[in-house]
Amino acid sequence: MDFEFSEEHKMLREAIRNFAEKEVAPLVEEAEEKEQFPVELFPRMGELGYLCLSYPAEYGAAGMGLIGACIAVEELAKVCAGITGGIMVQSGLATESILAHGTEEQKQKYLVPAIKGQKIAIFGLTEPNAGSDAAAIQTTAVKKNDKYVINGNKIFMTNGSIGDFVVTAAYTDKSLGASKGVSLLIVEKDTPGFTRSKLDKFCARSADTGELFFEDCVVPAENLVGEEGEGFHYLMEALDAGRITHSARSVGLAQAAYEAALDYAKQRVQFGQPIYKFQANSFKLARMAMDIEAARWLMYRAAWLFDQGARRLNEAAMTKLFASEMSVRVTTEALQIGGGYALMSDSPLQRYFRDARLSTITEGTNEIQQIVIS
Ligand SMILES: Cc1cc2nc3c(=O)[nH]c(=O)nc-3n(C[C@H](O)[C@H](O)[C@H](O)COP(=O)(O)OP(=O)(O)OC[C@H]3O[C@@H](n4cnc5c(N)ncnc54)[C@H](O)[C@@H]3O)c2cc1C
Repeated sequence: MDFEFSEEHKMLREAIRNFAEKEVAPLVEEAEEKEQFPVELFPRMGELGYLCLSYPAEYGAAGMGLIGACIAVEELAKVCAGITGGIMVQSGLATESILAHGTEEQKQKYLVPAIKGQKIAIFGLTEPNAGSDAAAIQTTAVKKNDKYVINGNKIFMTNGSIGDFVVTAAYTDKSLGASKGVSLLIVEKDTPGFTRSKLDKFCARSADTGELFFEDCVVPAENLVGEEGEGFHYLMEALDAGRITHSARSVGLAQAAYEAALDYAKQRVQFGQPIYKFQANSFKLARMAMDIEAARWLMYRAAWLFDQGARRLNEAAMTKLFASEMSVRVTTEALQIGGGYALMSDSPLQRYFRDARLSTITEGTNEIQQIVIS
């Protein structure tokens, strides 16, 4: 057993930490307030090689494995979980199926620009009537000669209003059911019949979230990703890795909340002493530190297993379930330690608390994770 990160991974952590503190942190306040993802981060991160970190070098990515991707997400999430969400979707869910199953032409046209941060990607699964029950999607793609005609509606799309293309799930043959009837298609933002709107939310405000509409939206048949009818399997594969990086976000977010609460507890004096000296608070902090550490190693072990090449459904679901609940526990305690000041809009503690609530719902709700595990 080896619990050490490789030298490359240690250097990556250091580099991303510096980048997050110097180049991401100054953008957070405005992005959160205006609810606008700072899009300039995509080309900048692409230039530095920080997008799609787990992808292979042959497409211009850093080839750092899922462990590398988790290190990056953990460090970015310490600074801002919302912004991290947009980067995560670009670096995983929205592009992974193209990497794994796309044609060489699709890789050059969509994947390489996504890795460079020149194109922003959207992952299009959820619909107004199909959340946890992904098989209930109603979007259809009907093949006519060498084209597909897409009709339907997607909701809660990360990068939805800023994305350049969406990898969308649609039924190509409803009669075959989800496991043989769903396909993935790439739709570019300027395709006639494709429109979208932006959604407003109380958490992860700096992540862009949108709704997409396809109305007789025609795309060439070459925009089909992989085999027709295999889309559902591709989506599930992408979600496995996604749940692990999602856990890294929970760990980074919780770590930030813990550190902010500890700092505050050292500075805040009541009854003549810093409040961390009250056992009620120091025990809270001890348990928070333990909780984060447990989630961190569950997450890195799942990432390590993934990098060994096998599909790890259970470990991905377990780490997602544990890490997201952990982030809710830790950010709730951090808020409590922060007292009234933590509830003020300018306190990072209230942002951590709001952002953690998202994590038990996205990437498959925690109830769904329990179904997967059981
Ligand atoms: C900010 C944000 C960003 C998102 N980004 C994306 C994205 O980029 N791409 C994308 O495709 N989707 C995205 N999603 C969608 C997200 O994955 C879904 O919200 C999630 O899967 C849950 O679906 P739902 O919201 O429709 O809830 P529902 O499925 O309606 O669930 C409501 C409640 O019922 C519970 N429930 C449902 N079925 C069962 C069951 N069988 N047993 C027990 N309990 C059950 C759920 O756990 C939940 O508590 C995003 C969502 C949000 C909020």
